[in-house]
Amino acid sequence: MIEKEGYRATIVPTEGSEFGYWYADRETLKANMSIKYAAHCAGLGSFGMNHLLITKDFGPRVRMTAILTDAPLETEENTQLPFINKTCSSCMKCIEVCPAGAISSDGKIDREKCAQYMFNVLGGLRCGLCVKVCPM
Ligand code: SF4
Ligand code: SF4
Repeated sequence: MIEKEGYRATIVPTEGSEFGYWYADRETLKANMSIKYAAHCAGLGSFGMNHLLITKDFGPRVRMTAILTDAPLETEENTQLPFINKTCSSCMKCIEVCPAGAISSDGKIDREKCAQYMFNVLGGLRCGLCVKVCPM
C-alpha cells in the first residue's frame, strides 16, 4: 500500500522465528535495528532489567514488528518516558528466575547464555520466564 503511494517501504529484520528463519546476526545475536529502542523513542515504553520493552498496558507481553519507510508520517509529542522502568529497582524478579543466569543487576544481559539455554536445554523452544514473572 505504501509503495503504491510512491514511497519506499521494507520490513525491519528482527529476530529468529519458530519457522527456521533467522534475521538477526547469529554471532552477535543482534538484529540490524532495535525495534525496542525505536519503540522507546516513540514513547511506547521503558526498558526492563530483562531488556524487554515494558509497555503501560501489557508490560513486556508484546510482540513488535516494524516497517521502514520514507513516507511522511504524522507524529505526536514524545512522552519522554525514563529509559529504565521505575519498578525494576525494587523488583529484580527476572534476575532471580532466569535459569541461565543471563540477566545481571548492573543492567547487562548475556544474549549468548539466553540463546544457549533455549537451543541446548529447551531444544529450540522459547523460555520466556523473564516475561512471565514480570509484575508490570
Ligand atoms: S521482572 Fe521486575 S526487574 Fe524484571 S523487568 Fe519486570 S519489573 Fe523490571
Ligand atoms: S528468556 Fe529465559 S533464559 Fe532468556 S533471559 Fe529470559 S529468563 Fe533468562
